[in-house]
Amino acid sequence: MLEDRVFRCGQSDYYKDEILVSNQTHTAGRLRAISESGFNGIWLHAKLRELVPGRLFGTYVTKSSDRLQELANLCRRAKRYGLGVWLYLTEPLGLPASHRFWKNHREISGPRVKIDTEEPVICLCPSTDMVQEYLTKGFAELFQKASLAGVILITASEHPSHCFSHVVANPSGWSDPDTSWATECSCPRCVSRGPAEVVASVISLIQKGIKSSSPKAKVVAWDWSWNLYTKPPYRNIVNKLSEETILMGDFERGGIVSRGGRGRTVEEYSLMYPGPSSRFKDKAELVQNKRPLWAKLQINTTHELATVPNMPLVVSLYRKFKYLRKVKAAGYMATWNFACSTDTLNVFAVNRLSGSDFNNNERSWLLYLARAYFGDGIDAEGVVNAWYAFQRSCRYYPLGGENCFLYYGPTNYALSHPLKLNFGKQPFGPSWMKHEYGDRPENSVRDYTLSEITLLLGKFTNSWSKAVVQYEKALSSSRGNLRTKKELATAIVAGCSFRSTYNIYRWYLLRKRRNTSVLNTEEQDIVNDELSNVRIALPLVETDEQFGFHEEAQWRMYTPTRMKQKIRYLKQLLEN
Ligand SMILES: [Zn+2]
Repeated sequence: MLEDRVFRCGQSDYYKDEILVSNQTHTAGRLRAISESGFNGIWLHAKLRELVPGRLFGTYVTKSSDRLQELANLCRRAKRYGLGVWLYLTEPLGLPASHRFWKNHREISGPRVKIDTEEPVICLCPSTDMVQEYLTKGFAELFQKASLAGVILITASEHPSHCFSHVVANPSGWSDPDTSWATECSCPRCVSRGPAEVVASVISLIQKGIKSSSPKAKVVAWDWSWNLYTKPPYRNIVNKLSEETILMGDFERGGIVSRGGRGRTVEEYSLMYPGPSSRFKDKAELVQNKRPLWAKLQINTTHELATVPNMPLVVSLYRKFKYLRKVKAAGYMATWNFACSTDTLNVFAVNRLSGSDFNNNERSWLLYLARAYFGDGIDAEGVVNAWYAFQRSCRYYPLGGENCFLYYGPTNYALSHPLKLNFGKQPFGPSWMKHEYGDRPENSVRDYTLSEITLLLGKFTNSWSKAVVQYEKALSSSRGNLRTKKELATAIVAGCSFRSTYNIYRWYLLRKRRNTSVLNTEEQDIVNDELSNVRIALPLVETDEQFGFHEEAQWRMYTPTRMKQKIRYLKQLLEN
């Protein structure tokens, strides 16, 4: 049970050539910390052709042997700490339409995909002999040269890859209105095979190559976005896979929560919502005793708030793991390319939830956790009550709404975001990337109204603040303890981030049509509230550089300097 426990090194940059520099980023200390936290695997992002270009890409790729050598070395080093190395891939990965490769290889090209403002990409057709050979031989050579633990494969959406990768073949199961999605596959070779067969054959070709070199290595088929093709639990894809293939499902995606009097569908990872979704339960039932099951989770943070090391939602973690133990899950991937701090209450909890220190009584296990983590001197009952209070506050967090609040809300950087007097036209930017602050939050509220979001955030932040007070009181006897200091600071800074977010929305509601610089009483109250909120967070943010840092962007989204600027700016607003 829970044999494979995969984590990630937070200093590795997903968007750069992370394998080439992996032995610098994955220092001995970091590998040891991951291992000592109870994990036995780490994952990195890879592109097959950049490691093993083979005949097909030999003349188009540079540094592949350097990369492969670094990877082999990382595998050796990680093994010393009991860590297997897993690669996350989206194969057969397409290439930009302008790439010179296409001048010579038109015969294996698939559909052209254009996502937003990105350069168009041409898919690599997996129904051609050349691509099939490239996948099987490429993975065989990769696993011959590096002793990897396995691969984790996404085979729908994300980076354009095979000919169905950006085709909405099942429109009733896919609500994303993005116009980059095709409704039909334009590849004459793949269209008659259909998406289920194409996806299953890509996974099988990769598996064949891997097993020929390393029979014990594992292949994880991640069902991310298979709802493009068919209804969950994706029976017609799963049943075409070898029984050895591990199925990894998103634990929370598809769950229904009630917000503002309506049911909303969770379509992301969530700590606020414990899950499992009925979608995940159906998958567990489908594979029971037939093939290994993994869960994709994020145990420290999610897009709900990613710029603190963790959120104190261990009640949610307990419930997730209780279910995973019940269905005898074989493993989990515990992070995305963020949420990778090792020194957190959540990681400590998951280590125990994965092992023999488990107990079917929720409250009694939480009491055990409180004492094991903070020491016997604390008020364990009070700590557990505070954890429940944090969990209860989550029922107001604006989940659903096609993830617009998660992806475009300002929560990750709200502590630095100013309360603008005048608004330009710029919509809010992507919450996980470095960007200039936007003006208009409408793009972050689809399916909600601005007033609904603001009302929910108000209730949420008030409820979270009360939980913080309970937490501080229960931990008051261990204030000198480093763990207590860190966890309290995290809960407080998270609460201040939520409060700033609430203030940004309620300020916008009041001010969106005003451009005077003289504030009315209600506006002054918001500025005063925000001033005191940023002042509470500032000394804590000054003591720990993890606050504000987003590992996906590899950028600190709020800093003491920016927060001080905001304080000066807010004071000026009041002086007008
Ligand atoms: Zn094709």
